[in-house]
Amino acid sequence: MDFIHQIEPYLTEREIESMISYLRSGGWLTEFKKTEEFENDIAEFVGSAEAIVITSGTVGLYLALLAAGIGKGDKVYVPNYTMIATSNAVKWAGAEPVLVDVEADTLCMDIKKIKKADTRAKAMIYVSINGRCADMLLVQKFCSEHKLCLIEDACQSLGSRWKRKYMGTFGDIGVFSFTPHKIITTGQGGAIVTNNKQIAKEIRKLKDFYRVAAGSDLHEGIGFNFKFTDLQAVIGIEQMKIIDYRINRKKNMFRRYQQNLGGLQEITLLSTDLDDTNIWFADIILPSQETREKLTGFLKQHKIGTRSFYPPINHQKPYSYFKRGSFPISESMAYRGLWLPSSIGLDNAKIDFICGKISDFLKNNG
Ligand SMILES: *Cc1c(COP(=O)(O)O)cnc(C)c1O
Repeated sequence: MDFIHQIEPYLTEREIESMISYLRSGGWLTEFKKTEEFENDIAEFVGSAEAIVITSGTVGLYLALLAAGIGKGDKVYVPNYTMIATSNAVKWAGAEPVLVDVEADTLCMDIKKIKKADTRAKAMIYVSINGRCADMLLVQKFCSEHKLCLIEDACQSLGSRWKRKYMGTFGDIGVFSFTPHKIITTGQGGAIVTNNKQIAKEIRKLKDFYRVAAGSDLHEGIGFNFKFTDLQAVIGIEQMKIIDYRINRKKNMFRRYQQNLGGLQEITLLSTDLDDTNIWFADIILPSQETREKLTGFLKQHKIGTRSFYPPINHQKPYSYFKRGSFPISESMAYRGLWLPSSIGLDNAKIDFICGKISDFLKNNG
């Protein structure tokens, strides 16, 4: 049997055929009609007024902060458990992250832990990590009470919802990522969604050299080049056509893992409402870091790839000035969490095989 990777991109003949036909059409490759079509697909799917595609999720977070007017002297709430790009974007913008511990049941920012809101805090980046989230009305309420711009890092949660409303649309601005391991992929890339026309306009200028108008070589500010390409859009459009399939397969995969692993005492599965939550990576929590490392090694011997949870942000070198031990939940869970194979192309027989191996391991090491 071939090695089962923790994640692989899922592409079909559709992407290949439309890429060939696009190349034959004489398109200019850079962003144009296909990009516009892809943006419309995303906006329509999540139900936002605008979608703007950019070169990556990280760039999306950065531009969201800039468009919200966040910069030097400002602070931004960021969860201590997230992919490092969330806090890096804050640094790029010249602001300072304020790390907040997470909830044990969702692994998302625990707003109850923000006791005395910082007067310099101007924004919050709420990360719906692995598709999960807390009560989004409470998050919105907290932000409006404290006059915080709510930016959603929904990089992992395209297709996840809270009470039937799509993640990315609860904040003033939402950001998705399209790297190969995300819900859809365009190689690299990301999208910013918002209902705020002013913010959308600002982001469109920032990503295109701050031109006064499309095609003009007059610039009224310092912009960047964070433009997308039609080459990528062609692939994205095909994936959006089967987005329901992609989401349902992810959900069913996690359901299968739950059924197989639910009875094992050593394994904690986070409670997950699979009607709304699109689990990006099937995740399990083990009793200790030691068990996790041993299980990882054991599975690797059986040609099964896994990936450990991200280390907590305050344990990463550039953020080590934050005190160790002050974020107990993230500093514990991050070392006990493991992501299991979660490619959309993974079939149930393989999932059963993986679960069988996990169960074998626990019988000897539990
Ligand atoms: C993937 C990811 C990012 C970064 O997105 P890129 O497209 O890789 O720049 C940011 N935040 C979270 C939570 C992510 O999972």
